Amino acid sequence: MSTIGTMVRSVPLQRWLPILAFGTGLLLNRPQLPTPVTEQDAESTGQFSGIRAHQFVSRIATAPRPSGSAQHAAVLDMLEAELRSLSFQVEREGSPLQNLVASAPGADNGGLWLVAHSDSVRAGPGAADDGLGLAVALEAARVLSREGLSPKLHVLFTDGEERGLLGARAFVAEHPGNRVVLNLEARGTEGPVFMFQAAGPVLESYEASACQAQSTSLARAVYELLPNDTDFTIFRASGAWGYDFALIHGAENYHTVKDSPENLDPRSVQQLGDCVVGLGRQWLGRLEEGDVLRTGSTSGVDSVWFQLFGRTLVLPPWLVQALALTMIFNLQRSSRWGLLVWLGALPLCFGIGLGALKLLAQFPVFYEGVAEMPGAEPIYVGAWALGLGWTAVLARGTRRSGWLFGGALVATAMAVAWPQVGYVLLPGLGAAIAERRGWRWTQVGATFLAGLILGPLVLALGAALTTRMLPVLCVAPIILLGWLGPMKNIEAKHRQVTP
Ligand SMILES: [Zn+2]
Repeated sequence: MSTIGTMVRSVPLQRWLPILAFGTGLLLNRPQLPTPVTEQDAESTGQFSGIRAHQFVSRIATAPRPSGSAQHAAVLDMLEAELRSLSFQVEREGSPLQNLVASAPGADNGGLWLVAHSDSVRAGPGAADDGLGLAVALEAARVLSREGLSPKLHVLFTDGEERGLLGARAFVAEHPGNRVVLNLEARGTEGPVFMFQAAGPVLESYEASACQAQSTSLARAVYELLPNDTDFTIFRASGAWGYDFALIHGAENYHTVKDSPENLDPRSVQQLGDCVVGLGRQWLGRLEEGDVLRTGSTSGVDSVWFQLFGRTLVLPPWLVQALALTMIFNLQRSSRWGLLVWLGALPLCFGIGLGALKLLAQFPVFYEGVAEMPGAEPIYVGAWALGLGWTAVLARGTRRSGWLFGGALVATAMAVAWPQVGYVLLPGLGAAIAERRGWRWTQVGATFLAGLILGPLVLALGAALTTRMLPVLCVAPIILLGWLGPMKNIEAKHRQVTP
């Protein structure tokens, strides 16, 4: 203990400052959840009531409701009655699968569509997947119709989602139209909501809606590499604009008996509801002012975006690319070993992650068909720590300052080629350059910014990838922060030159 104490004391304060700044950034920009609003408060303020929506989930998710089951039929009746009570005209479309299509009397197909799926898997009651989406769509439609039902507002409850997005496919084939879709989904039961897919020029409205759901262009890029689909995939392919929301934390409950109302966090319900109401007001406002959606014309969203203190920041990709290029010209070349060692760390850490995964697989619960291991958060943090620790160990071992250049070269290439993901690398690069040049306070500022940018990602990346992708999770910090490890060597060399 005394040795560690001596070591800590022997490091001057100025070397701890960047680390402190990084930690402060991480904590300050961590995702927050709102307090659920009661029915009474919502009535007087015109807000979304997370409590009322959660109560509706309890009414829906009493038993599994796979397509065609008696429970499913009972839930469809309940949903139809709720929609009619909001003055919607409701059609049941398809057989044996039945979509519920709700619009104002006489409305056309265009406009804003709130979409959720009415079926669940056989294995569980589907409180989050997708009772959450059904309840939030209903409650949000109620809030948005306080001053009368808009002919631009529609609700669609699809059937057969769990059997291959069947209801959404049938609907899109039947009803062409220029629309904005808010798809509401879940792959977990708690934590911050994620907006992980967007289509069309929709980010400006997202920013204006003050939606607090987590969102970044990085998550969208990662999602597109995963073999997952939601109903939104079908709408996007049909040319619709919109947003895909999901709960992703607590994935150990996904598609199991534990996807129950007790395990569904009412704060998450409130957060999703606030977003749907906020976005609903934005889009209905635009549509009612006569804004014509030119959907189908835009292939996708290529902006870079992320969240800072609950606000969404949208940047053009060229800005990130230009910043990355400015930085590379500020780096000094030193040793070719740097790149090799940096690249070598990747397979090594991947191997350690794979070993850890094999070890975790000894817990029988992990492989019983569940999506995630219970209590996985410490594992995510552990994987980050492992990746960072490994980076530091290798950096010490090489005793070469060229590391900085190698890592920075790869990082810059990534920020230029893939700015939607590479933006996360820039504060780290800035910190590395500042360190190198002896700009102490710039370095502290840059590490603070690095902490802010990574704050929402540490647990989210774990929840998105799940423990099953532990080797990838272990490699991520090396890619993101690898060049921050070897500062000691560089500093030692720097001191030799300028004592
Ligand atoms: Zn679902």
